[in-house]
Amino acid sequence: MMRALILGGTSDANLLADAAARAGLDAIYSYAGRTRAPSAQSLPTRIGGFGGASGLAEFIIREGITHLVDATHPFAAEMSRNAVAACMATRTALIALEREPWAKVPGDNWIEVADITSAVAALPENPARVLLSIGRQHIEAFSTKPQHVYTLRFVDPPDGSLPFPDTDVIVSRGPFKLACEMEMMRSRRIEWIVARNSGGTGARAKIDAAREFGLPVVMLTRPDLPDRLRVGSVTEVIQWLGHRACLGA
Ligand code: NAP
Repeated sequence: MMRALILGGTSDANLLADAAARAGLDAIYSYAGRTRAPSAQSLPTRIGGFGGASGLAEFIIREGITHLVDATHPFAAEMSRNAVAACMATRTALIALEREPWAKVPGDNWIEVADITSAVAALPENPARVLLSIGRQHIEAFSTKPQHVYTLRFVDPPDGSLPFPDTDVIVSRGPFKLACEMEMMRSRRIEWIVARNSGGTGARAKIDAAREFGLPVVMLTRPDLPDRLRVGSVTEVIQWLGHRACLGA
């Protein structure tokens, strides 16, 4: 019997959960538990870390998981590496639902960097107004450039103080439209953007807005991950699950 675990927390994972539920598949959806009110899913849902690769392997065995779908954000590298290791250890079938990275188009002014340290270094020394769009857990590194005014966008209001003297916090959940992103950048007089090359449409508008304004974007490239089967659409994942199920996996 096929029983799937979907590692989620993205809009693609949510679409996959809907499709899996509609197809009547036996599947569990997993959230890391980063947001206070995660979107409700049409599948049974669990929340919280597994306890590393070994914890995930134990979960897989305990729950009788036969297929694991890594539909996490492309920068959720630790979870993705743990998924590879746990699936190898338990001989569980693994597939990644991964959106293509954005490709530069004429008019884009990107400075591509491989890590957060390089992203901090790429920002100017003179004070600037910076939209920092890289995930809450990575903002600390930018405290070494406190001269900038940082605009941060979070799903939940921040718990404690932020590591910069001058911040502007927006509490909002995507997806965001181009006109709204342009207005947000115009009203805040944003001069620089720091972003991850997430791909997909939900986070794309800020990159399009940056191009419209001719603003520089410090773009973090995707983290290196171990080889695994990857597809770009929900349909392909459903087919993969259905195919394996038909084979009696
Ligand atoms: P990460 O650094 O790769 O993961 C850190 C740890 O969080 C993992 O080792 C794991 O803990 C736990 N974890 C991550 N994803 C999990 C999941 N789906 N279910 C259960 N545990 C999970 O990941 P991150 O960058 O902090 O991202 C955390 C989550 O937020 C991911 O699920 C990701 O998909 C989501 N996210 C969404 C967006 C978005 O734009 N929608 C953006 C960024 C992140 P253990 O080692 O204890 O198992």
